[in-house]
Amino acid sequence: MAPVSAAERQRRYRARRNADTEKRQKYLESERQRWQRNKELGKKKLINDLSDREKRQQRKKWRENNRKRKEAKAKMKNLDTPPLTPDIVQEQKAKRVESAQRSSDGPCTQYKQKGNVFLFCTQLAQRGITGGTWNFFEASHGKGAPDGVGGTLKRKADKLVSKGRDIPDAKELFKALTEEETTVKLFYVESEDVEQAVQRMPKEIPPVPSIMKTHQMVTTSPGEITYREISCLCSTQKQLACECFSTLHYTVSKPPAKMVKEGIAWESEDIIGKWCVLMYENDLYPGIIINTDETHALVKCMHKAGANRFYWPPRDDILWYLFDDVLQLIHPPQPVTSRHMEIQKDVYKELAGLLQ
Ligand SMILES: [Zn+2]
Repeated sequence: MAPVSAAERQRRYRARRNADTEKRQKYLESERQRWQRNKELGKKKLINDLSDREKRQQRKKWRENNRKRKEAKAKMKNLDTPPLTPDIVQEQKAKRVESAQRSSDGPCTQYKQKGNVFLFCTQLAQRGITGGTWNFFEASHGKGAPDGVGGTLKRKADKLVSKGRDIPDAKELFKALTEEETTVKLFYVESEDVEQAVQRMPKEIPPVPSIMKTHQMVTTSPGEITYREISCLCSTQKQLACECFSTLHYTVSKPPAKMVKEGIAWESEDIIGKWCVLMYENDLYPGIIINTDETHALVKCMHKAGANRFYWPPRDDILWYLFDDVLQLIHPPQPVTSRHMEIQKDVYKELAGLLQ
């Protein structure tokens, strides 16, 4: 066993003493007496008995102590991120939850953004849940139970509105549904709580390569996920750490490659029709930008035949990519053979140097 330091012994002694009410009272009383004694002896003075200089010093000390106490309190408060749902709190009290399973559909900007990936692989661990899976389904597939619950609530709300009740916002909806005594457990998340949680998230989360094609995300340790194009069923056997179907790995704290931050003007309308280079699974691909939204670009991509050799696939390969995966705009690739094209050599060389 490691030797216990004097400070640690002292700390343990105090904790034991303070836990015992009688001993704690006795201790406080003796401290009061000591203070009185010191005051009578002139060792301790009230603030009014101090000289101006001593007053300033004492008040500075008090301010400093107050500041430290407030900071410590704020720090403790910030440790926890978004609000716990009452459900999770209760469930954790009742029994230990080991892993959490989540099903959703997969609209890219809504669910498959790196902020959600970050929360998914950090928040579960903070709540003492060691593993989690998140399966993304295609629209109207496979989400029976949760969709059913949502549907029930929607129907209930529709009924209330048709009876003349106004439901202008989320809070009112929550109130109305709670009054209906539904068996569905409801809780309300204040928008300030959400805003605060967002503010506590790191500003720079590295992009998750090829997240668009992903159908399953698994976390078994904080800040890390494995993910794949196909949902693997090992997780139904409580086997979360499998490597089936070319599993990819992602760590929140480690960027996949040095990114070229040229700053592409995504909001500009001229961007449509421009050529760009994408990074996808640690490879480079040229493509034409077809459309953009707030966070993603729709790109028609060429396929790879070798180092800096690309061709148009027989079927168009058009997908949404995160802005972060689009490395830079380029001139149109030039034909080198009757079938293959290449990116401008120096541009390709420079970008290839950025890959791992
Ligand atoms: Zn598997």
